[in-house]
Amino acid sequence: MENIPVSEIINELGEDREKYFNAVAPPIFQTSNFAFESVSDFRKALKDEASAFLYSRGNNPSLAILQKKLAALSHAEACLVLNSGAGAIFVSVLANVKSGDHIISVENPYSWAKKMFDNVLPRFGITTTYVDGRDVTEFKKSIRPNTTLIYLESPNSWTFYLQDLKAVADLAKQHHIVTICDNSYCTPLYQKPIDLGIDITLQSATKYINGHSDVVAGVLCGTKAMMGKIFISEYMNLGIGTTPFNAWLMVRGLRTLQVRMERVSQNAAKVVEFLKTRNEVESVSFPMDKDFPQKELVQKQMTGGGGLLSFVLKTKDFNQIESFCNGLNHILMAVSWGGHESLIIPAISSISPDEFHPENPEHRRLRLYIGLEDPDYLTEDLKTGLSKMSY
Ligand SMILES: *Cc1c(COP(=O)(O)O)cnc(C)c1O
Repeated sequence: MENIPVSEIINELGEDREKYFNAVAPPIFQTSNFAFESVSDFRKALKDEASAFLYSRGNNPSLAILQKKLAALSHAEACLVLNSGAGAIFVSVLANVKSGDHIISVENPYSWAKKMFDNVLPRFGITTTYVDGRDVTEFKKSIRPNTTLIYLESPNSWTFYLQDLKAVADLAKQHHIVTICDNSYCTPLYQKPIDLGIDITLQSATKYINGHSDVVAGVLCGTKAMMGKIFISEYMNLGIGTTPFNAWLMVRGLRTLQVRMERVSQNAAKVVEFLKTRNEVESVSFPMDKDFPQKELVQKQMTGGGGLLSFVLKTKDFNQIESFCNGLNHILMAVSWGGHESLIIPAISSISPDEFHPENPEHRRLRLYIGLEDPDYLTEDLKTGLSKMSY
């Protein structure tokens, strides 16, 4: 793929400004359908709905601008933008399996990927084997004659475990197995799975791509042939493409992707340093940290980290974790991440007090997303929360 500077991708690529009065921001093409001057033009569009503007369940100019930018950022030939990240996972997997196939997935993938593997696909005779994924030989050992797909998420958005993307891609190629990697954590700015040989890279665009906590969307990137195959079948059948307005919002979000990523990365590093100084904190997990166990692999395949981290509180008391969270004044308790605002999810939000085992550090883990606020504002808020634990 041609190497286009990131600034050019973000500010220019895909935009035909002279077609819309040289407006700097593109218009929102809020239309369901497009009209033709001649039968031959009409026929041409019907033949190739992926590249023509015919009907907005398929292609739309607002979407096309965004798709060109996202494909170029990922070093991919083509891109599809869907109305959720979960939808992107679903259609990319569905397009590459048939009844009787076997999938190898990394353990604890994004929750809705796991629900698809565990609940939906078995109804069609498709089985999934989960592997820890930190050691490539685990993938090798799990390959069966009917394995057609390997599903990766690196780093994982909860455990932050990495898989060696190039090694897994090389192994998969030898066995004609399709590889998919969830790249939501890094975005194409900080990791390019396609360059490492992965077939399909996907992201929840709800997170950093849009970046303003006001759109739910997903991205798929890969070869023209792969994206074309998904488009003409699962994408069009489900009617799962994003809307012109959401595409327009994501183009606007992308304008600041680089600066947002830089800021959340700097903020996260400062918060990690702060957490490590505190007695109430048992451990901190963050891929860009100098003590991170898979540090070498991080350096090999990632160029940055972003704002997502987790930490374990040192306590035997369920209520102390609750007091910490309830005591925060600015960091919001909510799912999702990648927006302007810092967010926290305690593991105890999905377990009841009688299920709590204080000796299990996973029960005392909290996932923290560091946003764009002033770092001191955030550390002050964490201090306030910690003070509410009252030892
Ligand atoms: C949020 C998320 C998804 C799902 O994306 P939605 O846009 O919420 O559907 C997939 N993978 C990861 C790692 C995520 O964090």
